[in-house]
Amino acid sequence: MKLNIQDTFTSELPADSNTENFTRQVENACFSLASPIQTKAPQLLHVNTEVAQKLGFTQNDLESKDFLNIVTGNNVYPNTTPYAMCYGGHQFGNWAGQLGDGRAINLFQVKTDASYTLQLKGAGKTPYSRTADGLAVLRSSIREYLCAEAMYHLGVPTTRSLSLSLSGDDVLRDVLYNGNPAYEPGAIVGRVAESFIRFGSFQIFASRNDKTTLAALMNYTIRHHFPHLEENNKEDYAKLFQEIVNATVKMIVHWQRVGFVHGVMNTDNMSILGLTIDYGPYGWLDNFDPDWTPNITDSQNRRYRYGQQANIGLWNLYQLANTFYTLTEDAAPLEEALNSYKTQFEAQNLAMMCAKIGIQTPNKQDYILIQSLETNLKLIETDMTIFYRLLATATKIEDCLEAFYIPEQLKGETLTEWQVWFDQYTTRLSSETLSKEDRIAKMNAVNPKYVLRNYMSQLAIEAAENKDYSLIEEFYQLVQNPYDEQPEYQKWFAKRPDWAKKKVGCSMLSCSS
Ligand code: AMP
Ligand code: MG
Repeated sequence: MKLNIQDTFTSELPADSNTENFTRQVENACFSLASPIQTKAPQLLHVNTEVAQKLGFTQNDLESKDFLNIVTGNNVYPNTTPYAMCYGGHQFGNWAGQLGDGRAINLFQVKTDASYTLQLKGAGKTPYSRTADGLAVLRSSIREYLCAEAMYHLGVPTTRSLSLSLSGDDVLRDVLYNGNPAYEPGAIVGRVAESFIRFGSFQIFASRNDKTTLAALMNYTIRHHFPHLEENNKEDYAKLFQEIVNATVKMIVHWQRVGFVHGVMNTDNMSILGLTIDYGPYGWLDNFDPDWTPNITDSQNRRYRYGQQANIGLWNLYQLANTFYTLTEDAAPLEEALNSYKTQFEAQNLAMMCAKIGIQTPNKQDYILIQSLETNLKLIETDMTIFYRLLATATKIEDCLEAFYIPEQLKGETLTEWQVWFDQYTTRLSSETLSKEDRIAKMNAVNPKYVLRNYMSQLAIEAAENKDYSLIEEFYQLVQNPYDEQPEYQKWFAKRPDWAKKKVGCSMLSCSS
C-alpha cells in the first residue's frame, strides 16, 4: 500500500498542545491528536472502489488485511497522526459552544488529482466527545454510506463514502430518546472530502475572540481551497465569504430539486465548500410536503423542514458573517454577500424548477405556474419523485396517476385544479422551441427516477441486522445511475409502502446514531 500522504491540515495549523485523549475545552488550536480505538472483530461490509481508486488504493490494497485495519481504525497508516477537528456551532438556533469531531477521526490527507481527507466516523472517543461514546451504529452508518453516494450520483455536492465496516462491538443507543436503550451492532464509515471544515470551525475562534487562530484557518482555507484569493487580506476574506454563500445556495437548490431534507442544518453541519455533510436524521420527500422533516428531535418547531431549508441556509450564513466580521471589520461586503443569497437563490431555484417541468427559458411568470403546481401537489398525497418523472411524457394529469398514493382521490375539485394547471402548462410548453424528445431527455436528466427512499434504507438496515448485506450492494448499484431507466430495478420506482408511513427509521429519525 503506497499512498501519497500530504497532511497539510496538521502540518500548517496550530495543534492542541495536550496530546491526551480526554474530554475538555481546547483553545487556540484547530485540532487535537486522537487515535482510533481497537475493535473486537472488524469486518468490511462494503468498499467503494471508485473512491478508493481516487485516493490511490489499488485493488490488491482493498483485499488486504491492512486496508481493513486502516478503515476500522485498528492500524494507523505509517507516518500519519490521526486527529479530531475543533469546531463550535449553532444547534437549532442557539450557540452551543465547542462541539468538534466527537466521533469522527481524520486519518490523513492524500494528494492525487486533488487533496482528499479520509475520516472515520464511529472510531472512538476524542477530546470533543463530551459525554458520548464516539461510536456509531450499523443503521445510521448504512444510511450515511449509501446516501452520500446517492447524492453524489444525483449531482449534489457531498462528502463521499469509502467504506462501511462492522466493528464487532455492541453499542448502546436509545433510538427515540424515550428511555428504552438497547444494544446495536457498532459500525464505522470511512468518508472522504476535499475538506471537512465547517461554518462552526471558524465560529469557535470568533466566539473566543481568538483572531490569530481564526486568521490561520482562514488563510489555510484560502491557500488550499480558494487559491485565487489572497491570504491576510480583509477584502479577500469577504470574497471568501461570498464564495461560501454561492456554494451554499447551489447545494440547497440541489436539495430542493431531488427532495432531500438534511434534518440537522446546524452550523457545525454546514461545509464551507457547500458539500452535503453529516448524514444523520435526513430523509427524502415521499409525498410532496414542504412542512415535512424526518427529524423527530425537531418535530415541535420543524426548523429544518424541507420548505425552510433555503431560509435556514441564510440564517446560518448570517452567523458565519458575524464570525468573518471579527477579521474584516467591514460589514458592507459581508452584507452584500448575504443580500446576494436571496437573489441567487430565487434565480437558481426558478431555473431549477423550470428545468424540472421542461422549460428551458425561464421567465418571471413561470414562477406562478410553479407555485400553482406546488399547491396542486399537496391537494392529495403525491409522490414527488414519481410525479416529476412521469411528467416528462404526460399530456394530461391521468398520465401521472401512478404518483398518487390514493389515485381514486383524483376527482371533483382536485381533478379540475389539475386540469386547469395542465392546460396552462401545455400552453406554456408550446412556446418553447425544443423538440419533444429533447425536452423529455432534459427533464429526465434533472428528475431522478430513483432516489434512496427512506423505506429502502430501512429495508437494507433490517436485512443487514440479520447479516444479509445484499441490499446494501443492490442500492449501491442502483444509486450509481439515478437518472437512467434501469428496468432491472423498476420495483424501486415505487411509492412508500403503507408500513413505512409512520415507522421509526422511515419517517421518524432522531439524532441518536
Ligand atoms: P451531529 O448532530 O451528529 O452533527 O453531532 C453534533 C455533535 O455531537 C458533534 O460534535 C459530534 O461529534 C457529537 N456527537 C454526536 N454523536 C456522538 C457520539 N456518539 N459520540 C461522541 N460525539 C458525538
Ligand atoms: Mg455533525
